[in-house]
Amino acid sequence: MQISQKQLEQVNDRIKALIASDSFYGKKLEEAGMTEVKTVEDFLKLPFSEKKDLRDAYPLGLMTAPEEEIVRIHSSSGTTGKPVIIPYTAKDVDDWAIMFKRCYETAGITNMDRIQITPGYGLWTAGIGFQNGAEKLGAMVIPMGPGNTEKQLEMMQNLKSTVLCSTSSYALLLAEEIEKRGIKQNIHLKKGVIGSERWSDKMRQRIHESLGIELYDIYGLTEIYGPGIGINCEHNTGMHYWDDYIYLEIIDPKTGEPVPDGEMGEIVITTLVKEGAPLIRYRTHDLSRIIPGECPCGRKFPRIDVIMGRTDDMMKIKGVNVFPSQIEEVLGTFKEVNSEYQIRISHLDGKDTMRIYVETTGDNDFNALAQRIAEKVKSVIGFTPIVKIVEVGVLPRSMKKTARVIDERYE
Ligand code: ZN
Repeated sequence: MQISQKQLEQVNDRIKALIASDSFYGKKLEEAGMTEVKTVEDFLKLPFSEKKDLRDAYPLGLMTAPEEEIVRIHSSSGTTGKPVIIPYTAKDVDDWAIMFKRCYETAGITNMDRIQITPGYGLWTAGIGFQNGAEKLGAMVIPMGPGNTEKQLEMMQNLKSTVLCSTSSYALLLAEEIEKRGIKQNIHLKKGVIGSERWSDKMRQRIHESLGIELYDIYGLTEIYGPGIGINCEHNTGMHYWDDYIYLEIIDPKTGEPVPDGEMGEIVITTLVKEGAPLIRYRTHDLSRIIPGECPCGRKFPRIDVIMGRTDDMMKIKGVNVFPSQIEEVLGTFKEVNSEYQIRISHLDGKDTMRIYVETTGDNDFNALAQRIAEKVKSVIGFTPIVKIVEVGVLPRSMKKTARVIDERYE
């Protein structure tokens, strides 16, 4: 995806606003000598912005519109250090609702739906984002917020909720609770809009089957409005995102260079029309890829794949970026192996080798199984790994995902 002339003009306009307001990023851009962008080359010279910068701007350093135009703030809580505060103008709040309405529409949700919202309200962008979009659509909102499963199920049955907005883990919990109580016949849910964290196909399948609902992945982050900047359509070929509000790039997280469409990398987002706190080339650390070509649905909005994990997990093998989540996904499709695995990367005779150790759950032909797994992994990452099948209990048990990858190249 290359930035269009119109998008360049919008970015240029945001840069002018950042500088004119003497905001945190205005100063940074001035220091970098980037006071305007006219061409794609100029754009690619713009420095990236990072979560750390946003913390440094605490509390209101990001504010780019005059105070009288700011109507709300949201905050993303970090696990460490200062939070990030994002100011919104009335137009930002409205733009966000328009994007979110578009998400609901893309999922086939209408003003005749009853939308039960279980993500949290408050400083957090989740609950209120789901709500504003639903009201813009004209649907009936049931603003539950998180927790209190008893009350959730009661409202879900009595009000005949047709759409559930939630995290994947809460959707699973509700699904299990509904099964356990045998109340499925009282549930009228048709669709689930699930905040996009990485969730396994197995979990998706489980929620889909036990609730009998279609599932949609919605993408977004507090720094960039909140949830609602992209969602998958009925064809489930990745998430469409709204390129009239954001410009999205995929970069190699190590080099910062753009990667070709279709290749996995880090999502970097530039807001095109945001007033309260515009962000230029913001590094999300979320991993995905642009899906090339057009969606069968005919929508012109470009697509990214579902989020594959975080950049911290990336491995570079044979010049290819590989993520443990890709391997995990493949292994999950083989019922002959369990969820334990270990990846060892070594450098022998001038070339990288990746070995994948997996535990078999039954009495299988080790060689044939190894070969089938290797072929399937190759179809996903582009080269053939060495797969070793071992008996159950051979691999070390670890709670930490990172301990499953051992890179012997730099030892
Ligand atoms: Zn589509």
